[in-house]
Amino acid sequence: MTLFPQYLYIVAAALFVLSLKWMSEVKTSRRGNWAAISGMVLAIAATFLAYPVQHVPLLIAAAVVGTLIGIPIAMKLPMTAVPQRTAMSHAFGSLAVALIGVAEYHQRAPNVDPFTMSVLASEMILGFLTFTGSCVAFAKLQELIPGKPFVYKGRHLVNLGTLAAAVVCAVLLVLHPGRELLVPALAGFALLFGFLLVMAIGGADMPTVIAILNSYAGLSAAGLGFVLNSKILVVAGTLDGSSGLILALVMSQAMNRSFLNVMFGGVGAAPSGAKGQVETRSVRSYLPEDVAAVLDGARLVVVVPGYGMAVAQAQHAVKEFADLIEAKGGKVVYAIHPVAGRMPGHMNVLLAEANVPYDRLLEMDEANPVFPEADMAIVVGANDVVNPAARTQADSPLYGMPILDVDKARSAVFIKRSMNPGFAGVGNELFYLPNTMMVFGDAKKVMTELAAAVKKN
Ligand code: NDP
Repeated sequence: MTLFPQYLYIVAAALFVLSLKWMSEVKTSRRGNWAAISGMVLAIAATFLAYPVQHVPLLIAAAVVGTLIGIPIAMKLPMTAVPQRTAMSHAFGSLAVALIGVAEYHQRAPNVDPFTMSVLASEMILGFLTFTGSCVAFAKLQELIPGKPFVYKGRHLVNLGTLAAAVVCAVLLVLHPGRELLVPALAGFALLFGFLLVMAIGGADMPTVIAILNSYAGLSAAGLGFVLNSKILVVAGTLDGSSGLILALVMSQAMNRSFLNVMFGGVGAAPSGAKGQVETRSVRSYLPEDVAAVLDGARLVVVVPGYGMAVAQAQHAVKEFADLIEAKGGKVVYAIHPVAGRMPGHMNVLLAEANVPYDRLLEMDEANPVFPEADMAIVVGANDVVNPAARTQADSPLYGMPILDVDKARSAVFIKRSMNPGFAGVGNELFYLPNTMMVFGDAKKVMTELAAAVKKN
């Protein structure tokens, strides 16, 4: 291989590292995205230069078809559907890696040295299990199948047995690389394991599962990089593998759950204590005009955005409301819970889209001391991230998760469409407190009406 493609690979690898760094902050995330795109274009160009590429027209045709499908999906897809779209990307990426592994095996068999065979077998297992796991994650998030975890006694044993069977096939392949029938057997067990593993995890945990599947897909690609002697594939796969794992750990931590509990706890199978009870208390329902009247002269308002703001696309109406409060001499800050919405950074991205200044976004640790000073906390389509069951209800799936202290504000307004619970399915005691105002309706509509009422006062 000439040196020029190697230099291009180094630049591409540096761009991948920088893109991860830049994507970790909202203000540099676009730059991060461009860095990743540029790195990938360079890596592809270098590969064309470095290797005697065959069937170029076929490759170009495949790239054109992929682009024609990918661009409309990326442009039209609502932000709330990004987790399932990501799951599909992982499914196709990992399937591609696993199939390349199978092709490499057949090109080399029966003369495959033990190192190459063990790497090929491991990457095929990871690739195939990630494929079915990602398809199940997609189906759960898209509500094509129930989100409830499929749990039964002895499932861990069945799952472990299936994985063990795939590993036994891998070991036999290392010992007897000529036994080609072991490859479909390995693939079958790995596909089944991915399916069973993710079926046993609740829909609420799918974003975390997607992060870990991302990690598996990356490791699988890194393994293939060793076999193909492609340094860029090793670098990109390792970055993907480690960042996916770190993200899954951070998400588990933010929900105050162990990573093992997310993966193997079957959380979401049994209803929590609050869910089964029939609620007899009533709540006080208000109109946006009532809230505007209470807001008159407010000095500090804390907005708590949640999944409902994303569904309603209410971020622009929220910003308009905040501008009006500020024009009247008040201050508006935003309390951002790390797992608000359905993906990491979900609220930051939406609020940045509405041009909310970054310095108004407070992370949970900064926001909680502010609530006692606030005249009002306005909860826009959030529920679990403010639910005090996380502090008090030991049998609730939220138990132990740090929450935003909305109840410490002088008054709290909840904007939502009904009395339905949030993602974790747990009732919220805050709805019944005397200083809580419930405003029922779509978040965008209510926030627009609230802004109009504030303007009129
Ligand atoms: P929740 O899912 O707890 O609550 C969202 C609320 O929004 C619901 O009560 C719903 O009530 C309301 N809502 C839905 N649509 C609208 C609408 N159009 N207008 C107004 N309200 C609406 O969201 P949170 O953000 O509080 O919590 C996120 C949850 O997701 C947590 O449990 C978290 O653990 C989980 N999760 C988050 C991840 C992340 O990375 N962010 C990853 C994995 C899980 P109603 O139907 O009555 O309107």
